[in-house]
Amino acid sequence: AKRRGGHRYERWTEGFEDLAATESVLAGELGGAVGSGQLRVFYQPIVTLATGEPVAVEALVRWHHPERGLIPPDRFIPLAEQTGAIEKIGLFVLEEAARQVVAWQRLPGRAHLRAGVNLSPRQLASPGLVDQVSAILARTGLSPHDLVLELTESAVADDGVCVTRLEELRRLGIRIALDDFGTGYSSLRYLTRLPVDILKLDRCFVSELNGEPEGSAVAEAVIRLSQVLHLDTVAEGIETAAQATELTLLGCRTGQGYHYARPMPAAELEELIHTSPAL
Ligand code: C2E
Ligand code: CA
Ligand code: CA
Ligand code: CA
Repeated sequence: AKRRGGHRYERWTEGFEDLAATESVLAGELGGAVGSGQLRVFYQPIVTLATGEPVAVEALVRWHHPERGLIPPDRFIPLAEQTGAIEKIGLFVLEEAARQVVAWQRLPGRAHLRAGVNLSPRQLASPGLVDQVSAILARTGLSPHDLVLELTESAVADDGVCVTRLEELRRLGIRIALDDFGTGYSSLRYLTRLPVDILKLDRCFVSELNGEPEGSAVAEAVIRLSQVLHLDTVAEGIETAAQATELTLLGCRTGQGYHYARPMPAAELEELIHTSPAL
């Protein structure tokens, strides 16, 4: 089950020419994908490592193409970013996730469940963003304090407009996470000046954890850095109990990964939330 839809994903590696042709077709179809209900939002819990209790869910979009099957976001998000369709897609995902999390917050013990939603560079650059996000919060009833917007460091290059927009979002009470932290070249240079609340330790550093000092060097450095800057750390891509233990020993308290749960449709996750007090 690890490679859900694996046979379909493989079709994408067949050849560069096919790929290029397909991509331009897909780019054209993207605009209509939202309106025609082909996009679905999956959710992956973000848990307290020590207990497995979900503190948040990250919304991850999927494209169920009528002929091509399941298309992973790594394939169409970059296209959507180019064509501009990402603005519509991103707002759709935010609204879906907000509605869903408000519903889950009514379950026993889940009143403080948060929603993590990815925001693309183009969305951050869009002048209407703050108003659109406010409108979605108002429509869905999600508290801004229960929303985390995830941005990669490359999206928040040290430009004044981005920083101002992040500050506006934070003034509403929304938290900002730096996604895939450690993989962008600018990370350390801008970090102290960026209005962010959370560092998401990229999964490549989690996969290097092996009980040896060399394996944990970067993870440890990022966790220390978060502590000094009073930021929270969320570890990504935790696949084994040993990784979770090592992260806990290093001082990281929250994370996500296949070891706890895969991204899944809302109905499946809800079952998990119901059947186990701690996921
Ligand atoms: P991301 O934001 O870094 O999301 C985490 C990715 O890691 C997800 O891939 C998730 O399925 C995967 N993952 C989670 N746990 C594990 C694990 O234990 N091991 C491994 N190997 N992988 C794990 P996914 O869902 O394919 O999404 C890929 C990327 O697409 C996301 O990376 C994000 O950058 C982008 N994306 C997804 N949904 C959206 C969206 O709504 N808006 C925007 N702008 N980008 C999105
Ligand atoms: Ca993310
Ligand atoms: Ca990430
Ligand atoms: Ca990523």
